[in-house]
Amino acid sequence: MNEPRRYSASDVALAQFERAVAHMQLDPDLVEYLRRPRRELIVHFPVYMDDGRMAMYTGYRVHHSTVRGPTKGGIRYHPDVNLDEVRALAMWMTWKNALMNLPYGGAKGGVAVDPSQLSRNELRRLTRRFASEISVLISPEGDIPAPDVGTNPQVMAWIMDTYSVAQGHATPAVVTGKPLSIGGSEGRTEATGIGVMITATAMMEKLGMKPETTRVAVQGFGNVGSVAAKKMWERGCRVVAVSDVHGGIYNDRGLDLPKLLAHVARTGTVGDFPEGDQITNRETLTAACDVLIPAALEGQIDEQVAPDIQARIVAEGANGPCTLEGERILLEKGVEFVPDILCNAGGVTVSYFEWVQGLMSFFWTESEIITRLERLMTEAFEQVWQASREQGIDMRTAAYTIAIQRVVDAVEARGIYP
Ligand code: NAD
Repeated sequence: MNEPRRYSASDVALAQFERAVAHMQLDPDLVEYLRRPRRELIVHFPVYMDDGRMAMYTGYRVHHSTVRGPTKGGIRYHPDVNLDEVRALAMWMTWKNALMNLPYGGAKGGVAVDPSQLSRNELRRLTRRFASEISVLISPEGDIPAPDVGTNPQVMAWIMDTYSVAQGHATPAVVTGKPLSIGGSEGRTEATGIGVMITATAMMEKLGMKPETTRVAVQGFGNVGSVAAKKMWERGCRVVAVSDVHGGIYNDRGLDLPKLLAHVARTGTVGDFPEGDQITNRETLTAACDVLIPAALEGQIDEQVAPDIQARIVAEGANGPCTLEGERILLEKGVEFVPDILCNAGGVTVSYFEWVQGLMSFFWTESEIITRLERLMTEAFEQVWQASREQGIDMRTAAYTIAIQRVVDAVEARGIYP
């Protein structure tokens, strides 16, 4: 019997990088340099559970590139977190930050843990200990974490507090995605989903698709997926399918998003929403729709499911939702991508605004933030679209060539030490 092939997010990230490099004239030594992360920290640490037992956890923080500025990237709590995944996510952050022209390098972190199995006190102790373990790397000038899968503003508040206690003074700019009460930014929680909507609708416009005749399916109904679904609905699209880890729901006439959100707030899942038919996660991906928004985890769209996908646009709310084979099949079918490093960059863009506000101790209104976000996302989309059409390359490769060139320019300006 054949062993199932182990999925490597880093293999995907490197193959995407190399595909873009093939369209560029770069010094091979620099290409070799950029293939590798700058530093990788693995920590093993103990946490006391509520029952008095001690449990050991493993966490990671990877800095892919520090060339364009302090590193920035989220922290994930999920049982499958591993070095390969964090390494890939850190590299994707380098390209995302460069594509958005934010003055950051790329990083990512995570702990292999299922946070839903921990009490609030256990989660707090785990977070504080992990923050302390990675405090050799994080700082407002050096490396600024943010939320990702399984973490939220409360987790960021505990990281900020742990770091601040060690410093002897409040240091809000050490993390972003914080609660408003300690220097969080208006609009941060919704920023990623809003960015997905801005870039997905920009692509619809390029293809001559009208919101009122566009059907949308969304996989994953967390921070990114739920807001993206709501914003697409507000724009007048028909959201026909959504799913979370427990299953999905389909309604050809369109789901009532405010009602669905209220249901999820009450029950914690979309699966048993009464106004639609229950479907599996796979059926969410293959539902009859025009725009598919994967907003869960990596590797969801593989060669098994890709042939059955009906969408004309795949807007990648998640990081790395397609395997290489899955993407190849969709590109051959003529599917247009809004690639992850563009599509979900709204989160890090507003994180950048939050960091700047924290350093200045001067805060902007929500409408100032959303206006700036819209401008940056629309400009980035337009640059990628132009590069893609001018060079006859897919949107991801176009986005990578812009991002990689900006990082290479910075390396060349700074020079290789010594
Ligand atoms: P989250 O933890 O808030 O939500 C994840 C959602 O995915 C949940 O609804 C969960 O039930 C669902 N899910 C998990 N496994 C699934 C599966 N196999 N099938 C279907 N649904 C599944 O996480 P999030 O912050 O929304 O992040 C989602 C994705 O977006 C990740 O790839 C993350 O890296 C990326 N992202 C997040 C942000 C951000 O600001 N939060 C920014 C950029 C990119």
